[in-house]
Amino acid sequence: MLQVCVIEADGIGHEVVPAAVRVLRVVAPDVEIQTAEAGWDTFKRLGTPLPDETLQMAKACGAVIFGAAASPSYPVDGYYVPIVRLRRELATYASLRPTRYLPVPTAREGVNLIVVRENTEDLYVQHEHTEDDGQTGISEKRITAVASERVARRAYELARRNGREKVTIVHKASVLVQSDGLFRRVALEIADHYPEIKTEEMLVDTAAYWLVKDPLRFDVILAPNMYGDILSDMAAAWGGGLGLAPSLNIGDGVAIAEPVHGCAPDIAGLGIANPTAMILSIAMLLRHHWLRPEVAFAIETAVRDVLYSGAYTRDIASVNAVSTEEFTNRVCDRVRELV
Ligand code: ATP
Repeated sequence: MLQVCVIEADGIGHEVVPAAVRVLRVVAPDVEIQTAEAGWDTFKRLGTPLPDETLQMAKACGAVIFGAAASPSYPVDGYYVPIVRLRRELATYASLRPTRYLPVPTAREGVNLIVVRENTEDLYVQHEHTEDDGQTGISEKRITAVASERVARRAYELARRNGREKVTIVHKASVLVQSDGLFRRVALEIADHYPEIKTEEMLVDTAAYWLVKDPLRFDVILAPNMYGDILSDMAAAWGGGLGLAPSLNIGDGVAIAEPVHGCAPDIAGLGIANPTAMILSIAMLLRHHWLRPEVAFAIETAVRDVLYSGAYTRDIASVNAVSTEEFTNRVCDRVRELV
């Protein structure tokens, strides 16, 4: 029996997750849905952003649907970013973040790239402390050969299986010789095992420049955690915006579907959030984790068709926008015709 642990978390997580779960129920009624909680509101109530029961349920299910958690930009005693902890606890060592053209006016035609982001280390794991009575802040950037190797292998395997032609290894090894230098060296060693795939390397600032100037030059982008976080948001702009950008955190036999966007407090509760990113993240879960590519394809086709019909949420179109619910109704109706 397939099981999934559903965590709405905060903000528009309470809107896009139920919407996407409706789509999942249409295509995979056999999947048993468990619900759990995490995030800022949970922290305020229970004193922890990721209760033990949530973690245990996520581990037991092996598959998670996660909305988005709010995180203050100032230190709060006892608070940490729950999704970062969850990714580490579940050993989802790679984050797959595709940007593919969708028929909306805000997207760039022809774009089709995927960022494969290391997911367990680097500056992102919040190993931080202060010195000098709080006048100096220190964050540890730790890169290991083990983590670099497994994410590089995942990127090249994905390229091989999907007939992709090129992997761009992103780093700043010219300055961070020890940490990014190690990531670069290990990634290039893995690249040697995939001679049919073209490999290029690029400094992260150059990659940012080219992502803005010519996104069509990219195919697979392999990056350490922090650079991958930033570059995937940049790439999302070419896909039509954050409301359309899906992601899947994946390990060995475990996965977390999660939109690239955050909890969007500015629009939370208004019923206007775009559920596409969350819906497409579930399609990724179906394709890569539950190995049901035909069902994933049906969801992607339905989303594409609904967008093609001109049904846009407010992040895409300011006039005649449809609500989260109306958009989801149309996707569910179309998906029913396809499966
Ligand atoms: P967080 O701190 O959780 O990252 P944020 O507001 O800084 O929150 P996002 O939640 O990613 O970052 O939102 C950035 C902008 O994109 C906001 O203006 C938000 O309204 C918009 N946005 C993000 N996701 C969606 C969505 N699914 N539908 C519509 N607009 C969205």
